[in-house]
Amino acid sequence: MLWSRRGRLRTSAVTIPLASLSLLVLNACSGSGEGDAAAATGPLIATTVSPITSIAAAVGGDRVRIEGIVPEGTNSHTFEPEPRTAELLSDADLILVNGLKLEDPTIALAEANMGPDGRIVEIGTAVLPEEDYIFDFSFPKEEGKPNPHLWTDPTYAVAYAGVIRDELMTLDPDNAEYYEGNFAAFRAKAEELADAVRTDQATVPEGNLKLLTYHDAYAYFAKDFGWQVIGAVQPDSFADPAPSEVAALIEQVKAEGLPTIFGSEVFPSAVLQEIGSAAGVRYEESLRDDDLPGAPGDAEHSWLGLMRYNYATMIRGLGGDPTTLEAMDVTLDTPDTAVYPQ
Ligand SMILES: [Zn+2]
Repeated sequence: MLWSRRGRLRTSAVTIPLASLSLLVLNACSGSGEGDAAAATGPLIATTVSPITSIAAAVGGDRVRIEGIVPEGTNSHTFEPEPRTAELLSDADLILVNGLKLEDPTIALAEANMGPDGRIVEIGTAVLPEEDYIFDFSFPKEEGKPNPHLWTDPTYAVAYAGVIRDELMTLDPDNAEYYEGNFAAFRAKAEELADAVRTDQATVPEGNLKLLTYHDAYAYFAKDFGWQVIGAVQPDSFADPAPSEVAALIEQVKAEGLPTIFGSEVFPSAVLQEIGSAAGVRYEESLRDDDLPGAPGDAEHSWLGLMRYNYATMIRGLGGDPTTLEAMDVTLDTPDTAVYPQ
């Protein structure tokens, strides 16, 4: 058995250190209120941000135990894992991170603590060739950190699921067919979502498919779906932009004739509000970054639910009609047993 560490199929249970046993009990307790982690078995997978946790859960179902690290509604770009995360990382059979320099402190903690059979996979780095890296205002080239937000693009989300499927099949070949089936179901839903975005974005008035956001999370999506990111307010330091930059953005919003600019719950922005009122446009502040809608266990508490909400909100804000997106059923039959820290 390839994944016997802390797993149910371990043959010599007497060798489990007491500390691991107490951790198992803790996991069972925290899981009972958040999803159904207590019922899951199999290899232990550590993940970072909640969209990646959700995609991993869509592939792994209840034959893996998945624990997220970055609490929902947290700024993942500046997130530093707590020392107790070292315990999870040392026990994990597989550590799934986005990579592209998003979670360097977590990767450093993992490298210092992971067990001899542990493995770190940088999913975004794996699926994005270097020539396709996007650098921009929030992620300038001279800082060396490309825009890491691939998962907001359904095409890349499917590629992420493909990497996760391959990793799980290698780790746990007995359940290969199960992971393959779950992957196919997730891909079908992600493609349905992409089709719904394309249908609904066609209702947006000509010339309006333009985004000014606070957090710069849609660069790859925009490129694939024919939208234009006219700017993102958040500088690479995650501080507020300089007054001259704010003035330039106000002029740009006026010139582009945007009806709405978008902020997000995770990053409340007085600056964006100021740009909105100075330019005379609506400020929609409800985009969600890594904060999945609803509560763990709800169908919409998922990557599918998150992206449906964000794209429906953008399309409505830009003057379109998101009926197709809102009518879409985001339920997956695969059980989500992951632990999502709140
Ligand atoms: Zn982000």
